[in-house]
Parts: sequence; structure tokens; C-alpha cells
Amino acid sequence: MNSEQMKSLSIAFDLVTGLSSDVEPIRRKLSAMAGMYADRQAFGEMVAAGDPVVYEFHDLGVPAEAGEIAFGTSITYPGKVGDEYFMTKGHFHSILDTAEVYYCLSGGGRMMMENPEGDWEARELTPGVAVYVPARYAHRSINTSSDEPLVTFFAFRGDAGHDYGTIEDKGFRKLVVERDGRAVIVDNPRWRDHPEDTQ
Ligand code: MN
Repeated sequence: MNSEQMKSLSIAFDLVTGLSSDVEPIRRKLSAMAGMYADRQAFGEMVAAGDPVVYEFHDLGVPAEAGEIAFGTSITYPGKVGDEYFMTKGHFHSILDTAEVYYCLSGGGRMMMENPEGDWEARELTPGVAVYVPARYAHRSINTSSDEPLVTFFAFRGDAGHDYGTIEDKGFRKLVVERDGRAVIVDNPRWRDHPEDTQ
């Protein structure tokens, strides 16, 4: 037993907006994602023109311990930087061998996943669909809708932690972009296996 043991709790998350009247989300504006979108010029113009909120998520302060489960909603807003859809930064878990579940509540998009060995997968997110993100896979939510937020509910082991730095340095191998009105997966032209060698 530990002194931080959670008590039972109930929290309401709106099925359409993903927001809660009980807890404030953490907001990520576009300017917090420098270098993560392929079109650097479009990125700079959008930051200068108002720096929109790209996504929000909840951290409920569940103790970072193996027996706990962190949970909340993630809300990725509709929009594009150039032809690349709005997305979350994405991350590996600090404890690489920890999985996660995302359940789509509203909107539509993709869960992009890749592991350090180079395997990648993109799963469609539509309302009512649960996506299991396996251990060892970085994961990023991408909103491919033109007008609706992509809202998911997530749950993962409390001590998993977040490694954002690897993705900030290297990016994901694949991007989701709009071509002729459709969402397609393309190679990331800026993906770098060994960033320290190519600067
Ligand atoms: Mn995660």
C-alpha cells in the first residue's frame, strides 16, 4: 500500500467535445510543435496568424505507479498545416513495454503507430472503435475530418511516462496528408533515423 492510493472517483467527459466541467485540459498550441509538420512555411504563417490550439488532453494526476491507470480524453481539432492534418505530438512511453487503449468517442481520423524497429501501423478512428496501441509503439492521433474534433478516451499504466523527445528529434516515418480530398499516408521526407548525423 502507498499513501497516495487513489480513492474512487467519477468524472464526466462530453461525448462530442471531449471536455469536462470537472477538470481543465492541457492545451497545445501550434507553436509548441515547431519542426513537427513537414511544411515549415505554412507552419510559420499559421503561428503568426493566430497560433491555433491543435489539441487538448487531460492529466488527472493519477500517481505514476505500476498499479494505477492514467486516463482521460484527448481532443485533436480539425485543421491542416499545408496538406498535413492536425495531429498530436505523439510519444513513446518512457517504459517502452507499456501499451495503451484509445476509444473513439466522436470525429474521425487515424492512430499512427511505429516501433523503434521500424514497423508502423495506422488504424482508423471512428466513433465506437477502440484501438489497442501495443507496447513499444509510439502513437499519435491525427484528425482527418474537415470540421469535427477527434475525441478519444485513453487509459494506460500509471507509471508508463512520456518520451516526447525521440519523436521531436526524429518524427514519425509516415505522415497523413490530404490528396484530392482524401487522407493518404506518405513517407515523411524529414524523417531521420540518426538525427545527430544529418544536421
Ligand atoms: Mn501514450
